[in-house]
Amino acid sequence: MAETIRSAQAKLSLFKRRFSGLRNTFGTYDPETGRSWQVKHPVTDGVLLDHLRGRRPYGVYLLTGDRTSAAVVDFDNDDLNQVVDFIARAAHYKLKAHIERSKSKGHHAWIFFGDKGANAAKARLVVSNILDEIDAPDTEIFPKQDRLDPSIPYGNFINAPLFGRLVPEGRTVFLEPTSFKPYQDQWAFLDSAETVDESVLDELIEINQWGAEKRQPSRDVSRPSSEPSIDFGLPPCAQKMLLNGVERYQRVSCFRLAVHFKRLGMPYDVAVAALKVWSLKNRPQGGKGVITEQEIVDQAQYAFERNYRGCGCESPAISPHCQEGCPVKSKTRQKGFREAQGGLQ
Ligand code: SF4
Repeated sequence: MAETIRSAQAKLSLFKRRFSGLRNTFGTYDPETGRSWQVKHPVTDGVLLDHLRGRRPYGVYLLTGDRTSAAVVDFDNDDLNQVVDFIARAAHYKLKAHIERSKSKGHHAWIFFGDKGANAAKARLVVSNILDEIDAPDTEIFPKQDRLDPSIPYGNFINAPLFGRLVPEGRTVFLEPTSFKPYQDQWAFLDSAETVDESVLDELIEINQWGAEKRQPSRDVSRPSSEPSIDFGLPPCAQKMLLNGVERYQRVSCFRLAVHFKRLGMPYDVAVAALKVWSLKNRPQGGKGVITEQEIVDQAQYAFERNYRGCGCESPAISPHCQEGCPVKSKTRQKGFREAQGGLQ
């Protein structure tokens, strides 16, 4: 396909959109020796043009506050198998990751977030769980921290792609996911590269209870510790969701409904059939489509393969459907009261 002609200004704004981070500091390295260092200087158009023209490499500090524009995994050897495993596992979770050939050895896998970026702690939690699943838990993730604070004013920079001096050598360029050859038009790729919404991270963390597993390894991961188990029929939130459908968080809602169905002894195939009927009532916002039959099957499988008991009361997907008078709510209050009493003794 013919390369689209773009002005330097158009390339610059596209580059800024994809590789944004701290505006007052950047990283660089000596292409001859590889020695890297920090530059405390504004990230001006001149700095970025120097990078794109191959004069001086630019390294981006992705973390701004607790937000990041991307999550990057640094596979520092030339074995593509791990990269392919990561891309495939990420795709399983509906996360599109893009492969970049790095400057010297290895590859980077980039997950781009939308214009608002994503919470860095969530991004790192999701990526680290995927790395665990492909048996590469020690692989470096950028950003390396969850947030900046007075003790971590900058974080760590990652070398930005498309350093002009290395592009003709097929380095610092993005690769097609099947042939592993550089995209012929890197700018067209960057322009259309799929991004991930933070809500997808929220859904993955909640459904897989990744935070609970990572932070509380010795506890029963099937239920957040702050949430009492449920020992009666469908709670009011689930009844409301079933009756009216939902507008947001369809996958998490589907998962929670499936958890309740399983808890009540409903066979798996009946639960899936009920969820398909339920999905027809959903009214997704923002031009999104109704949850697909395959997604319903996926969520029901997640719910049925483990012994979940919690209701997700604190989840942004479930809490808007909460109803006064729910027995779980009073259990939570009693628990809080007991804990408060305990704290006073
Ligand atoms: S307390 Fe609210 S969110 Fe939790 S189970 Fe009851 S109705 Fe649902």
